[in-house]
Amino acid sequence: MTAKREVATEDLVDEVIRRSNQELLSRVKPVINATGIVLHTNLGRAPLSDSARAAVLASAGYCDIEYDLISGGRGSRQDHVEPLLRLLLGAEAGFMVCNNAAAILLTLRVLAARKEVVVARGQAVEIGDGFRMPQIVKQSGARLTEVGTTNRTSLDDYAEAIGPKTGAILWVHTSNFAIVGFTEQPDLRSLAQLAHRQDIPLVVDNGSGSLLDTTRFGLDHEPMPAEAIAAGADIVTFSTDKLLGGPQGGIIAGSREMVTRIRRHSLARTMRSDKTAVASLKATLSHYAEGNPEAVPVVRMIAALPEDLKARGTLIVAKLLEAGLPAAVTSGESAVGGGSLPGQTLPTTLVAVDPPSSADSFNKRLRALNIPIIARTQRNRVLLDVRTVDASEEDSLIEGLVTAARRS
Ligand SMILES: *Cc1c(COP(=O)(O)O)cnc(C)c1O
Repeated sequence: MTAKREVATEDLVDEVIRRSNQELLSRVKPVINATGIVLHTNLGRAPLSDSARAAVLASAGYCDIEYDLISGGRGSRQDHVEPLLRLLLGAEAGFMVCNNAAAILLTLRVLAARKEVVVARGQAVEIGDGFRMPQIVKQSGARLTEVGTTNRTSLDDYAEAIGPKTGAILWVHTSNFAIVGFTEQPDLRSLAQLAHRQDIPLVVDNGSGSLLDTTRFGLDHEPMPAEAIAAGADIVTFSTDKLLGGPQGGIIAGSREMVTRIRRHSLARTMRSDKTAVASLKATLSHYAEGNPEAVPVVRMIAALPEDLKARGTLIVAKLLEAGLPAAVTSGESAVGGGSLPGQTLPTTLVAVDPPSSADSFNKRLRALNIPIIARTQRNRVLLDVRTVDASEEDSLIEGLVTAARRS
């Protein structure tokens, strides 16, 4: 009796070890994003285009990331992206670091350490997950000088704050919230003129890095890095995995003289981009340069036509009903997310599934699938937004829903 129990305990211990090893050795899993949030930070922000994915794979082994195949000598990883950045932004120079937070930190460190950085009070923002502009300015070795009020800042407010200790004017795109009503901000062009009269640089943190005018998708206009350059900004920084739709990265672009100084600073080496990120950014930027931005999944998802979404949703529902799973199409809203276009939504089509058990336990089963499905819940229904599901994922989505329902 005692011996038998000991064996059972041993089995139990083995099982615990086996499971924890399974957990330990499990890979990062691809998931189906059916949330309708296009730039979902927890799900890896922007999904890469097919050719950006191929570029990741192609650069995973030995590659010409810093090797000049013509001369057989040393090259620079930045040579892969700089010509495209110049072309797409109208900037004299530009380079890539590991993310936009690093891009701003490095820029301010080089241009404004031990000096004052003038920022409008309404732009001293928190972007999320520990990124607070006042902290970043402090870590760069500069001092923050806030001007104006939360909702209104005039050109005179900036002019009055500028003195011999000013190192830069910083303009921050308030990506994830909106101040509406009685508001005022000078336009970037006048701010650039003011900065240049005083011989100080204007730095713009553009955040989302949109290379397209978002009004063509029926959204508000999202500020574009190219516009900041055209308005006279000396440096513009932005993320490459938000509206741009590429891998994680940050761009520092603008005046050749300043970009060169920033790039040569010893801290730049601590923020270097990985070779696969450089390769996939190059592929992503190429889509824009070739006039084919819809090859970028983020652009394609935002641009998706309501009638096409409805047609896809209707077809998915028909297949679910055929498999015996109660479902219907309904209309809803998708969000762009990822610190852009706050409060704005895009009309979409949702597949609403009535789960056999509770919505919570059905969602749990969806997350436990080989290819997990991440959905929304409303009352006791599970809602799947077709906008963020790629057409190539539809079969897996249907199969996953049916499998999860069988297991319920
Ligand atoms: C998202 C964002 C950042 C941070 O960019 P990461 O690439 O995530 O480091 C900084 N500033 C603004 C305005 C942003 O929107």
